[in-house]
Amino acid sequence: MKLFEIIKDIFIVGGPEITDGRDGCIYLINLGELILIDTGAGWSVDKIVNNINKLELDNSKISKIILTHCHIDHIGGVPEFKKMFGSKIYIHKLDAPPLESGDQILTAATWYQTTFPPTPVDVKFNFPEEILLIGEQKIICLHTPGHTPGSICIYLDRDGKRILFAQDLHGPLLEEFGSNLGDWDRSTKKLLDLDADILCEGHFGIYKTKKEVKDYILSYRRQYGVE
Ligand SMILES: [Zn+2]
Ligand SMILES: [Zn+2]
Repeated sequence: MKLFEIIKDIFIVGGPEITDGRDGCIYLINLGELILIDTGAGWSVDKIVNNINKLELDNSKISKIILTHCHIDHIGGVPEFKKMFGSKIYIHKLDAPPLESGDQILTAATWYQTTFPPTPVDVKFNFPEEILLIGEQKIICLHTPGHTPGSICIYLDRDGKRILFAQDLHGPLLEEFGSNLGDWDRSTKKLLDLDADILCEGHFGIYKTKKEVKDYILSYRRQYGVE
């Protein structure tokens, strides 16, 4: 198996253990064009780019960056990626305003003792489910509010497996983030129904069997008292 490879064409290229302790995990899907899921907190863009180089992939092909939600540990690298590669930024419409206005509280930038500049996004998801079709590959973006109002999870079926990207599914659920337990309950039920084979999480890495994925989600449902 290649460095960073999770399954054919899907890689982890950054995260707390790989690039910077403050980064949420950064995943890469290689479909000829390169799609990034999240960007880390902003201090490690060079390292992420370097890791993509190590995979012998062409960074200039980072065409799309799908953001799972508006927190700095996931979006901090956006301005630099946009500048370097002109990548298009995708985010749910309910989590777009904090980026666009550079809201230091809602992006959690103040938590990380940094700032986030007002940054335009390119595509705002609007529906419970949005499908990006890249060649023959469908990438499904599900609106899964709870941690933030515009949190999304992403999944795709590839190489006989269903891979789910669910960043910050564990929370926290905080009033200042606009978190909502009822929404979170419904969202995590949807994720269980997906019956994914692999879970790529935002801070705690990768779970590689259906049972591990299910147990992981259920453990947080029990913790939040909805199971
Ligand atoms: Zn978050
Ligand atoms: Zn996070």
